[in-house]
Amino acid sequence: MLPRFYYHPRMLGYDFGPRHPLKPERLRRTIELLEALGQTEFLDPGPDAREDVLRVHDLEFVDAVALIGSGMAPSQGFESKFGFGSLDNPSFPGVYEASLAYSAGTAAAARDVLGGAPLAFNISGGLHHAHRNKASGFCVFDDPAIALHILRERFDRVAYVDIDLHHGDGVQWMFYDDPNVLTCSIHQEGSRFFPGTGWVEESGPVFTSVNAPLQSGTTGDVWLEAFERIVMDALRRFQPQAIVLQMGTDAHEYDPLGGLRLTAQEWLEAVVRVRDFGVPIVAVGGGGYCLTTVPRMWVAACLTLSGLEVPQNVPEPLGTRWGMPRFFDDDLPEPRGSGAAYAQRAIDFYLNSVAGFIPNPH
Ligand SMILES: [Zn+2]
Repeated sequence: MLPRFYYHPRMLGYDFGPRHPLKPERLRRTIELLEALGQTEFLDPGPDAREDVLRVHDLEFVDAVALIGSGMAPSQGFESKFGFGSLDNPSFPGVYEASLAYSAGTAAAARDVLGGAPLAFNISGGLHHAHRNKASGFCVFDDPAIALHILRERFDRVAYVDIDLHHGDGVQWMFYDDPNVLTCSIHQEGSRFFPGTGWVEESGPVFTSVNAPLQSGTTGDVWLEAFERIVMDALRRFQPQAIVLQMGTDAHEYDPLGGLRLTAQEWLEAVVRVRDFGVPIVAVGGGGYCLTTVPRMWVAACLTLSGLEVPQNVPEPLGTRWGMPRFFDDDLPEPRGSGAAYAQRAIDFYLNSVAGFIPNPH
């Protein structure tokens, strides 16, 4: 059994429409695959997370989302003020309830860890771009930030680890000056890529913000090296007592949105290292827009974090129906070592100008 896995069909209501890349089908397939493997008991977190959402968002914004989702927004300008109405974040009926639904899953998972559970999941969460007063980048409420806020009720030191293709900007800015919350993100660099932030120099006033930006075209071997030498190094220095792990899968080579070139197994190796760090984990989903990679990567991560073996083949008939016969990729993207020089500069900057200043308990 997977420990503490939060899911309810109401989370599928988070749907920006058929032309939007963030499709509920990603979650639907993940759940179907977990059901086929028989490893999961699904827990309903309930629909209401308003009080938890208000931990990290302004009341004005939360009320605005409710108004927008009920079709009562007074104007187009009102929507755009709160981040809606763009191609990335179109408003849709029920956006408030759907956003509460995924936020409730992450809040429940965080409460389990608060209560002593070693691991809890909400794969529908991981919406790391939302800001305190604005929706952004397919994200309305910042559920990883909610989890960090909840974990701080018990733990003095908590960390956020983000392996999504994109910089975890919303979470970073919410805790940028907090000495008790370390945020770490490895991602495609932002010079011509959303959200345009996540530079290694963004270390925060108290050095609790760690970034590993990598060039488009970077292969998984280089990504993993940067993950080890920057993110894992930062965790060892900071010594968090619990971790929120954002498991966006869009750094995979097949993903249509970006240029990082990871295999599923290289990405999973980062998940293994976070697991082996040995503190309680709240694991959430995130980006990932290729329907033949997202479900198998999320399921592989859930099994791996739970200490269960990932089978070689996706169970039939799902493997054939989805064109996704195996969990792992056969071929490694070539040439190996792509993006190494850029990554080395990020590692050097981190080691010379950030690492030694990260607060630690000793
Ligand atoms: Zn992403």
